[in-house]
Amino acid sequence: MPLPLGHTAIGLLTHEAAEAPPPAGERLKWFLIVTILANLPDTDVIFGLLMNGNGSLFHRGPTHSLLFAVMAGCLISFLSRYWRVLPTIRCRTAVALILSHVIADALFTAAPVSFLWPLEVNFSAGHSGWTDVIRCVVFEGFRDVGLVAASVLLIMGIRLVRSRRHAIRRPLFRSPSA
Ligand SMILES: [Zn+2]
Repeated sequence: MPLPLGHTAIGLLTHEAAEAPPPAGERLKWFLIVTILANLPDTDVIFGLLMNGNGSLFHRGPTHSLLFAVMAGCLISFLSRYWRVLPTIRCRTAVALILSHVIADALFTAAPVSFLWPLEVNFSAGHSGWTDVIRCVVFEGFRDVGLVAASVLLIMGIRLVRSRRHAIRRPLFRSPSA
């Protein structure tokens, strides 16, 4: 079951595949926006906790859908052009980061997501109070160690392929007139 740690790792992998590496001075900003977007669908847990004390109330509903990914991703991309706290992120990258969460939930857990909301809605069953959610996020992140390791290996693989391509394209010597 991907928790924030696993979703962040999968988000970093998605970003690595979608974009060139950010400049050294912007890496922290990029890490933060990737973390936020890759975990954005689970804000439904916070709404459930605030409104009813039950994090499962709206979980895996509208925020775990293609429509939410497109709308929220494009909105955040638009805001990033004007709000300098954020790095400027392309709409397709922001959408891909949010979708990485929904797809990971669908692939790695038994409970369904609401991918085609509003045509389908699959809310989580059960009850999760504040202590359940905090314990899960803070103390059970180690369960994502496999996802983190796989993401790191794939990121290293993408960087290796990129560096080889770059080396092949670079000319061995420059002509004197250049
Ligand atoms: Zn989720």
